[in-house]
Amino acid sequence: MAENFFDTPIEYLKGVGPQRAELLKKELGIFSFNDLLKHYPFRYVDRTKFHKISEVQPDMPYIQIKGQFVSFHTEGNPRSQRLTGTFEDISGSIDVVWFRGTRWILKALEKNTEYIIFGKPSVFKGAINIIHPDVEKVTPESFTFHSALEPVYSTSEKLQAKGLHSKGIAKLQKTLLSSLRTAIPENLPEHIQSPFRLISHHEAIVNIHLPKNEEVLRNARFRLKFEEFFFIQLQLLRIKAERTEKYKGFVFSRVGNFFNRFYKEKLPFPLTNAQKKVMKEIRHDLGSGKQMNRLLQGDVGSGKTVVSLMSMLIALDNGYQAALMAPTEILAAQHYRTLSQLTAGTGVYTALLTGSLKTKEKKEILAKLAAGEIHILTGTHALIEDTVKFRNLGLVVIDEQHRFGVEQRAKLWRKSGEASATQEKKSSPHVLIMTATPIPRTLAMTLYGDLDTSVIDELPPGRTPVKTVHRYESSRLRIFAFMKKQIAEGRQVYVVYPLIEESEKTDYKNLMDGYEAITHEFCRPQYHVSIVHGQMKPADKNFEMQRFIKGQTHIMVATTVIEVGVDVPNASVMIIESAERFGLSQLHQLRGRVGRGAKQSYCILITGDKISADAKVRMDTMVLTTDGFEIAETDMRLRGPGDMGGTQQSGIPGLSIADLGRDGDILQLARKSASTLLEEDPRLELKKNIILRRQIELAGKNRISWSRIS
Ligand code: ADP
Ligand code: MG
Repeated sequence: MAENFFDTPIEYLKGVGPQRAELLKKELGIFSFNDLLKHYPFRYVDRTKFHKISEVQPDMPYIQIKGQFVSFHTEGNPRSQRLTGTFEDISGSIDVVWFRGTRWILKALEKNTEYIIFGKPSVFKGAINIIHPDVEKVTPESFTFHSALEPVYSTSEKLQAKGLHSKGIAKLQKTLLSSLRTAIPENLPEHIQSPFRLISHHEAIVNIHLPKNEEVLRNARFRLKFEEFFFIQLQLLRIKAERTEKYKGFVFSRVGNFFNRFYKEKLPFPLTNAQKKVMKEIRHDLGSGKQMNRLLQGDVGSGKTVVSLMSMLIALDNGYQAALMAPTEILAAQHYRTLSQLTAGTGVYTALLTGSLKTKEKKEILAKLAAGEIHILTGTHALIEDTVKFRNLGLVVIDEQHRFGVEQRAKLWRKSGEASATQEKKSSPHVLIMTATPIPRTLAMTLYGDLDTSVIDELPPGRTPVKTVHRYESSRLRIFAFMKKQIAEGRQVYVVYPLIEESEKTDYKNLMDGYEAITHEFCRPQYHVSIVHGQMKPADKNFEMQRFIKGQTHIMVATTVIEVGVDVPNASVMIIESAERFGLSQLHQLRGRVGRGAKQSYCILITGDKISADAKVRMDTMVLTTDGFEIAETDMRLRGPGDMGGTQQSGIPGLSIADLGRDGDILQLARKSASTLLEEDPRLELKKNIILRRQIELAGKNRISWSRIS
């Protein structure tokens, strides 16, 4: 027996034993009593309620029916057999279907005997039926035993085969809870609980598994969600505080000639209020003596580039160099051109470093960089190779960070130029991470909770929102006609094809077929068509891009390489082929390529005639809104936070009951509570916070790597 009752290995629970224990560990990660208690139900069903068969609809959740089997029949061969039972009550009859274990089921079930079946109605071959329901013979206890709130647990096929379906797990929970000699230890101090009137940890755990009534269940869920968020936020905020304690930031105290000349002579437009607000936040960070770690979110076209440039100019004014890192060569080259244009004549020396440079050119750049002659270096991840040495790097801007893995960012973090080894505290360059992928607030707080965030929530004036429509493949001719009309008005058009790694070959074929169809329809000398895809050499890609940017070609056929950051204000039509294969955030990114000028722009989503319900929601969302945050929220609801674009590398901390899509309010409360607590007691040294320190130490054993961003 373990010292602590709750650490007792799961095999010692009555009803488990070695075989089931092995499976519980493998399939659900349940090693101890404590782990079992933390395996919360994901749903509750009302087992006191029965439906009449005549009321059953295909979109109903799990329901319960009482009746009798009147006949059975089997189809298929012995190895893949389907068993259908006709189940009747006074109101009608319904088919109940099994695909597995049919022989055994047939033997066990009796005709003309009362059963209760429990399952989810679905539609199969045009008729409503219930597949693989729970079936129970009616006994005198049938109607007294069930609570109105029966927990439903996630399980696996292997566990079910060993009798551990949801009910089996519920039984283990009951066994465990009834064998408790002591209360489940509290994990939050009183002063954290009382402002929110949280019920105790013990009461919450007991009621999450065996809810007394709806109200207590609500309280239990609130309490458990709160503590889940609270501990994540406490960790993140502590990491942030620790970093501030360990690392010093270069102090950029002055705003000098570089900045001022740019602002007065070169800035081609007044800043939007949102840009001004963000500049203020960044300037404050840069002057504070703390190292800046800021995430800048702003929808495509919101004007992040100029904000990053002005931040870099402040670094220059204080005698430091700056770097701007982009995810692709095309984007790096474009940033380089933009920066060069914007700073022309102001004495700023910028350079572009990419993997495709010749050795000699590269050497030259590296020498000038080390000598401090180059002020701003732009590039791809080639920037963080060890051979790249700055004289004194003061600020790193990372555009579209989600393309950079955590590891790459960590490398950058250590790249602190002539780090002052003599100082007690190490100085590190300031980091500004920019993303046009709007991250729902709740997700940002969880993934990037140790970063400060700024949001540009306003587009520059004079933009007309992009008109979006959803069309089926059958209307392609009409779409061609529309393209011609736009081109005749002097506009340019993108046509984008999906390129998904798993189906790369067919995708390339589709791209090429599409290109051929377009060149056939839009032929020279009247029309010129560019093509860009990942299998081209960077130089060729760039050449084609340039032709389009300069307006020498009318149509750009491409894969998603153009997704990020490319800026061609004259392009006003974005056509997305096989749009059902793109995720929402990607569609939104692509659409952001148009609508950059003052002219009306269009986005045409072309899909196959038959698409899934989810795909339909994605198309409808795109048609209905251009608000990136709204789209991101929908995306998260559809796919769950784990699949959100670009977050895979960072990983989402395990949330077992709280839901980032729905529990944003609780997250806010928990974060606020954690931050107030740390303000008062940053190292958790006060006596009243002992419980928390112990929890953190326990969690620290498997310290979460995702929080080590930058
Ligand atoms: P993103 O945030 O997507 O990186 P960019 O920085 O590329 O956006 O800006 C998009 C376009 O808007 C650019 O052509 C840029 O020059 C222009 N722009 C940026 N800020 C403003 C502003 N305040 N007023 C007008 N145009 C602006
Ligand atoms: Mg950009």
